[in-house]
Amino acid sequence: MPEFRQNFVTKEWVIIASERAKRPDQMSTGLEPRPQPPAFREDCPFCPGHEDRTPPPVMVSEQGGQWAVRVVPNKFAALRSDERPCREQNGPFLRAGGFGIAEVVIESPHHDVTLETLPLGRVELVLRAFRSRHLAIASDPRINLVSIFRNYGPLAGTSLEHPHSQIIATPIVPPHVRDPWRHAQLHFDTTGRCAYCEMVEGELAARVRVLVETPHFVSFVPYAAKTPFETRIYPKRHHASFSWASDAEVADLAKVLRDTLQRMRLGLRNPDYNFIIRSAGSGDEDVRHLHWYLVIIPKITTPAGFEIGSGIYINTVAPEGAAEYLRGVQTDA
Ligand SMILES: [Zn+2]
Ligand SMILES: [Zn+2]
Repeated sequence: MPEFRQNFVTKEWVIIASERAKRPDQMSTGLEPRPQPPAFREDCPFCPGHEDRTPPPVMVSEQGGQWAVRVVPNKFAALRSDERPCREQNGPFLRAGGFGIAEVVIESPHHDVTLETLPLGRVELVLRAFRSRHLAIASDPRINLVSIFRNYGPLAGTSLEHPHSQIIATPIVPPHVRDPWRHAQLHFDTTGRCAYCEMVEGELAARVRVLVETPHFVSFVPYAAKTPFETRIYPKRHHASFSWASDAEVADLAKVLRDTLQRMRLGLRNPDYNFIIRSAGSGDEDVRHLHWYLVIIPKITTPAGFEIGSGIYINTVAPEGAAEYLRGVQTDA
């Protein structure tokens, strides 16, 4: 039977209508298998030997005498670091200079790998680069929000095969980011508790939607998942910003992220996906009502008119069924 479910923190509603579609394992069978990329491409700006095709790096991690992770300014950024961020109002029309910081994290010199197929130590290096750039960028007083995300495959917004993630930092905190924070703040003021901590405790107690649990993290398909197989990774310790994660937490996150992504790759036929690290805004790193997390959204369905119009997503795979299916996938973790 279909049902409405509400997100505990954001108060958004979804419709879980699982009988409308196929079994979880049939969700991705219509997708074309992804061709295996070559280990090196002459026309790829991120392959080794082509370092002069990107702007000079802002950070390089080396291993075995070769670069392992390179972070470079995004040559095709929508925002520019030399614009002025100040706002101007003209009647009802508000504008601000297109200031922002945009960087690309090149995750490996090898063209044919991806985050979930890299060795664990290399995934940790990538996450350390995320943390270090997040800290550095957030210290710029003009920046109020740092977004770290990964687009994998054309349906997720990239045609570039070489393994990479992106960082975009803006002076603007938009309403769709700020509004859930207001709900979380109100919850804290009412109950004295972090709403996200309560939700994580609820998922750990219920157990039915949990995929992977490690000493510091848990990944689960949330109760009110908007799209099939949407998965979230939360730190068990309360803290608001990814940039303040400890070394032990970063090492543990590499494990849980790689394991979770492998379950999607093997169980859902290597789908396109986005992941996003949602972290408190600059200056709010130690607040008690926000809690950072990572959300992975496999691109198996496309939002249609009803979703765009109402903001109510129809999820055709029950989160409990999605979790049970992904728990059954064998990974090398
Ligand atoms: Zn390449
Ligand atoms: Zn919390």
